[in-house]
Amino acid sequence: MNIFHITKLAQDYASTAITKGDKVIDATAGNGADTVFLAEKVGQTGQVYAFDIQEDAIKNTKAKVLEKAYESRVQLIQDSHANIDQYVQGPISCVMFNLGYLPKGDPAIITKGASSIKALKKSLELLKVNGIITICVYTSHEGGVEEASIVEAYLKVLDKYRYKVLKYSCLNDQTSPYIVLIARMK
Ligand code: SAM
Repeated sequence: MNIFHITKLAQDYASTAITKGDKVIDATAGNGADTVFLAEKVGQTGQVYAFDIQEDAIKNTKAKVLEKAYESRVQLIQDSHANIDQYVQGPISCVMFNLGYLPKGDPAIITKGASSIKALKKSLELLKVNGIITICVYTSHEGGVEEASIVEAYLKVLDKYRYKVLKYSCLNDQTSPYIVLIARMK
């Protein structure tokens, strides 16, 4: 396990909640790394719902999905993750968020606190018991600190008997990206 590579760490945590045949969500498809990872994990009988607002992200993710011949297990949805409930019915075993902007894309198009919270709220409703939500959080781009504080403020007050919310961050470097994990207990 590489403890500094947060996207890989998020995948390692996500793995613990996923079994073949599950329905899962990639809330920020981007260039498709998490979508392909999730497709691998759910297998032929599972389903991945991958959201992104950008056409380029959907195109890049589609290319990766086709390369692996995973098209029957992945639905690509060009819409905001705030509308997850219009496309997905529960129960869902895992939702992955990778906040910020599309790597090698337009750095002005970023995830935002208000829509991230809507998506998180809906994801929590769809999540099954023992399901996991992973969130990779970045604060070094413009708007990143604001989004992080909005998301954290929302998660801090979740019912502690129903959900456990963990933060994995670098104590001696506040600018480092970090992970937030949400596990549904009951
Ligand atoms: N997980 C991706 C990967 O493996 O390449 C990287 C995701 S990237 C850091 C963040 C993505 O979130 C961008 O592609 C951006 O277009 C997308 N995004 C921004 N706002 C969004 C929204 N409201 N709903 C869904 N996706 C959004």
